[in-house]
Amino acid sequence: MLGLFSSSFYDKGDVVLKISGPLLDHPEQTSIQIGPNKHVDVDAPAKFINHSCKPNTKIDGEQIVAIQKIHPGEEIFFDYQSSEYELAASFICRECGQWVKGMKFKHENVCLQAEEHKIMETQ
Ligand SMILES: [Zn+2]
Repeated sequence: MLGLFSSSFYDKGDVVLKISGPLLDHPEQTSIQIGPNKHVDVDAPAKFINHSCKPNTKIDGEQIVAIQKIHPGEEIFFDYQSSEYELAASFICRECGQWVKGMKFKHENVCLQAEEHKIMETQ
């Protein structure tokens, strides 16, 4: 699996990358959403950044910013569901096994989990 690995040290708040590429009005598998109907079909290396529910960066405007210390050799992650309203292609998170579909569906996931929890409690 491709991924983006840091070659430098970043402190919390440092800009890791700038988001650049053609602007689209719809999501693609390699795009990052930066606003309503604003998706940047990002160039390498940003397009190799994998999703994590425990990310070390976040999307801040048109920048990818470190939210904790990142050491050389560490993989860069951001939470796709924090920026994407609806992903072009949903997938199962390799860490938690939950579907990653986008912000639009996040509430739905929470409700489903709560529902499962309730069922487990009553058994
Ligand atoms: Zn996850």
